[in-house]
Amino acid sequence: MKPAPFTYHRPQSLHEALNLVAELDNYKIIAGGQSLMPMMNFRFLMPDHVIDLNQVTELSSISKEGSFLFLGSMTRQHAIHTSAIVQETAPIITEAYSLVSHRQIRNRGTYGGSLCHLDPSSEQPCFTAALDGVIEVASKDARREVPITQWTAMYMTPDLAPNEIMLGAKLNIWPVTHGWSFMEYSRRHGDYAVVGVAVLVNLNKDMRIEKISLTLCGIDAAPVRLVQSETSLINLTANEDAIHTATTEIENLPNIMEDALNTSDYRRHLAKTLMRRAMVVAFDRAKQRIS
Ligand SMILES: Cc1cc2nc3c(=O)[nH]c(=O)nc-3n(C[C@H](O)[C@H](O)[C@H](O)COP(=O)(O)OP(=O)(O)OC[C@H]3O[C@@H](n4cnc5c(N)ncnc54)[C@H](O)[C@@H]3O)c2cc1C
Repeated sequence: MKPAPFTYHRPQSLHEALNLVAELDNYKIIAGGQSLMPMMNFRFLMPDHVIDLNQVTELSSISKEGSFLFLGSMTRQHAIHTSAIVQETAPIITEAYSLVSHRQIRNRGTYGGSLCHLDPSSEQPCFTAALDGVIEVASKDARREVPITQWTAMYMTPDLAPNEIMLGAKLNIWPVTHGWSFMEYSRRHGDYAVVGVAVLVNLNKDMRIEKISLTLCGIDAAPVRLVQSETSLINLTANEDAIHTATTEIENLPNIMEDALNTSDYRRHLAKTLMRRAMVVAFDRAKQRIS
């Protein structure tokens, strides 16, 4: 199928793009087009205007800013996957991108496109939640920051007003000694995850947990952090008991989503299994790095 007719706009700067979103009705922004174009071709979406951000170079960047890593919204997924800065400051992102779709899609797909499309099974909101991301958005007249915990307004819908553009996100950089693991189960290589898990851990010299982040995707509309376990595991030894604490919290999670292919029980089972495996790997990496 072909998309319904629309007027195409190609702003050359962020200023121009923000003016367009302030003026136009029934528009859609196009970033990599990997999700938007199929939806337009199926006519699930019929915008009167398409605003192409591909010439807005200000939105494409990867930078270390103090204790944050900043990823611009138009940064290609391939650029993030292969970035030395990302590998050095947040290796969990590099690991997560090795599981995101296929090289051809990562060449065009953008970080911001994924955060705005907001598929519950996507690795990208998941690692953003694991790293306590803060999303920066702008309208013509104002800028604001949205913590990732408030970014999902509803299923596949970000907290973005009609006149706003996502600029990028600030992600916390963990100590160099931290351990990490991103794991998922998907039916075929390159598919979205049925369930994915992100684990970050930092240990002290006694191998006790100083800081830990435990995140799941494919469970609910937004990534789910195991906040109770994260709090109760502080100062405890990184061992089998710690893993048991996290899997028990997953066992007790209410309302795990389901669909025609994957029941809630199946997703819960996957979440527990993947969390166990990812915690083992993250603990091992942290132990090697601290010793
Ligand atoms: C076959 C296939 C397999 C895939 N597998 C995976 C996978 O395993 N994991 C995964 O995470 N993703 C996967 N994807 C998704 C892909 O990686 C892209 O992340 C996704 O399609 C959106 O990125 P995009 O840059 O193409 O955005 P687009 O398709 O251009 O836009 C997506 C949405 O975001 C909005 N938008 C984009 N940028 C902005 C902005 N700056 N401000 C405001 N709104 C904006 C658009 O208006 C649109 O609503 C897959 C895609 C395909 C086609």
